[in-house]
Amino acid sequence: MENVKGKVVAITGASSGIGEAIAYHLSKLGAKVVLGARREEHLKNIVRTIVSSGGDAIYKKLDVTNVQDVVSFVDHAESMHGKLDVFINNAGLMPLSMINEYKIEEWHRMIDVNIKGVLHGIAAALPIFEAKDKGQFINITSVGDRWVGPTSTVYSATKFAVRAISEGLRQEVSNNIRVTIVAPGATVSELAESISDLELKKLAIEQFRINLLPAVAIAKAVAYAISQPNDVDVNEIVVRPTAQKSF
Ligand code: NDP
Repeated sequence: MENVKGKVVAITGASSGIGEAIAYHLSKLGAKVVLGARREEHLKNIVRTIVSSGGDAIYKKLDVTNVQDVVSFVDHAESMHGKLDVFINNAGLMPLSMINEYKIEEWHRMIDVNIKGVLHGIAAALPIFEAKDKGQFINITSVGDRWVGPTSTVYSATKFAVRAISEGLRQEVSNNIRVTIVAPGATVSELAESISDLELKKLAIEQFRINLLPAVAIAKAVAYAISQPNDVDVNEIVVRPTAQKSF
């Protein structure tokens, strides 16, 4: 695939689900992937699997809520490879709940990871992109970046915010820096595990998480956006299971 081979791609939330699939897929296409998340054992295993099949992967533990962690993550990518081409803001969580359950700690966590984490990624990588006047952000939002329903209010708010941040960033940066959002529909991952209400989790899994995309479907959309020529910025890609009609 054009324009992917040899690129240094840093991915947050790469220890499971969509981030893990992006790491595998891009490394198969010849990218040098740099994985970040909190669960170090998972990262180690994924890196080992990629390297043992001939790919190029390294990792650094990070918590996206800590801006210094994200800066160190980006520094690690740059110092190991001498450059950074793409930064993928993928880390996220989705503890759904009704507003009147007042799960305030979960609201804070979603805001900290899903919004502030993305801003930290931008703050860490943008200076590098601006210094070289090239680079690409890919922010993984959700169909919830344009849809809201009961129990998804705060989650959707965080994803609406990332869509707004991405559009503002796109307009502010130079003509040589690309900004893409990839908005997945229901996809195989550990995401529903963050729902603390067991009844709701069961309902979400039985009613909404039935026709799931394999995570590689999202990885392929990411690869498509990266693979375009530098003067083509794919701004938004929405990928749903064909059978996902209602949201
Ligand atoms: P997973 O739960 O499988 O992956 C989430 C990833 O985020 C994990 O690697 C987790 O790693 C990481 N993460 C969570 N908190 C932090 C943190 N504080 N610092 C660093 N990493 C963190 O779910 P998905 O793969 O589905 O989620 C990836 C993205 O896709 C999310 O932004 C999600 O909102 C989005 N999405 C997913 C959909 C789906 O149906 N799967 C649909 C729409 C959007 P660790 O715990 O090791 O830190």
